[in-house]
Amino acid sequence: MNGNTETPENCVFCKIRRGEIPGEMLHSDDDCFVIRDINPASPTHLLIIPTRHFTYLSGLTDDILPVIGRMYMVAKQMAEREGVSESGYRLIVNQGEQSGQVVPHLHLHLIGGRQLGALG
Ligand code: AMP
Ligand code: ZN
Repeated sequence: MNGNTETPENCVFCKIRRGEIPGEMLHSDDDCFVIRDINPASPTHLLIIPTRHFTYLSGLTDDILPVIGRMYMVAKQMAEREGVSESGYRLIVNQGEQSGQVVPHLHLHLIGGRQLGALG
């Protein structure tokens, strides 16, 4: 799981960020943006996506570390906006084939709004 698969030109999340395909853009800043998942697993299902296209955490370099911190800050703010901060929510990053990752652009799932089951 090294480097990137797919290019920013073909990537569905990069296309949404560029406005080439529709997406419900809930937040956008220099580091990351947030969309609502098109196939929600729970009443609240958001995707927090770094602006920079990379696929795996193995592609993480020191210069991106502040972006990762910012993604968690935005996740916290979005959970408050969605009203799931008190009830609880889950943050998930899928990495590679066995995790079920289908979009090869790193993203943080924010899932909440119902009682969630066990992991795995
Ligand atoms: P993952 O399995 O971690 O790669 O998750 C990818 C997520 O992206 C899935 O939950 C999909 O439902 C979601 N997704 C795929 N295409 C779109 C899209 N065009 N707009 C919003 N969410 C999408
Ligand atoms: Zn991308």
